[in-house]
Amino acid sequence: MFADLHLHSRFSDGTWQPEELAQQARKHGLAAISLTDHDTVEGCPAAAKACEALGVEFIPGTELTAEQRGNEIHILAYCLDIQDARLLSEMRKFQSVRQNRVREIVARLNELRVPLKAEAVFALANCQAPGRPHVARALVQAGLCGSLDEAFERFLKKNRPAFVPKFKMSAADAIALIHHAGGVAVMAHPGLNRSDEVIPSMVEAGLDGIECFHTKHSTVTAEHYLQIADRFRLLVTGGSDCHGISKGVPLIGTVKIPYQHVKKLKERAEKRNAETRNPKSEART
Ligand code: AMP
Ligand code: FE
Ligand code: FE
Ligand code: ZN
Repeated sequence: MFADLHLHSRFSDGTWQPEELAQQARKHGLAAISLTDHDTVEGCPAAAKACEALGVEFIPGTELTAEQRGNEIHILAYCLDIQDARLLSEMRKFQSVRQNRVREIVARLNELRVPLKAEAVFALANCQAPGRPHVARALVQAGLCGSLDEAFERFLKKNRPAFVPKFKMSAADAIALIHHAGGVAVMAHPGLNRSDEVIPSMVEAGLDGIECFHTKHSTVTAEHYLQIADRFRLLVTGGSDCHGISKGVPLIGTVKIPYQHVKKLKERAEKRNAETRNPKSEART
């Protein structure tokens, strides 16, 4: 039994509906999946329903954008209460930050005489958490760039003329928010950031796990983070980070982890829930 715990739907920058993801999970014989859209849990109810109908276990999730000592860190959340009021109100803030950022990126493009309209990006994104991939797709759709890669290379990447940084919460705040919602906090694709020096302070802030297996991790990188997981007693997770068909061949199922890791994740979440529901601790709002 295997699981893919890192997937995006069209509620962030993936191309598939949650229902299509569930069907793909079934097709690839996955026992469990999680939907980890950037800064939103909107797709989770539909994914849960579709997974249930197909006999695939669904783990609610999200991927929060955070920052630690100037490094952008993505923090995956699993088994969280997707109706938690504080979680939802924080997410609304980050969604509005993302929407304003799209307007700023488009304004920069316009200054560069690239005639893209923010409305075209929003119409294409059709979600609360739009990002650079949507701007890239809109540029391609309008014939202003030949490919998504070209859009990132010419305009959207860091140090390119239309790059706009995103306001980010601290990693410690993200971890606290996830715990507040009864979830488990996992550092996403650490091999992409190559900022291992931030790990100890995140562990101190309550980090529960680390994503050892990821599409962009080599076997050597995965082994390196398995050792770190061992050293800091962190849970091990993994997933394909599939964005649907936006980047060529769909990645779902290409990175999958044995189900025993999901079991440990759920046990940790149960422990967290028992702690948060303890009447002696702060009431959840
Ligand atoms: P954002 O959250 O708006 O900053 O966008 C980040 C997302 O853009 C990542 O999750 C990737 O899906 C995508 N991305 C980042 N860099 C590139 C790139 N060079 N080419 C294509 N997609 C990229
Ligand atoms: Fe993404
Ligand atoms: Fe990420
Ligand atoms: Zn991701």
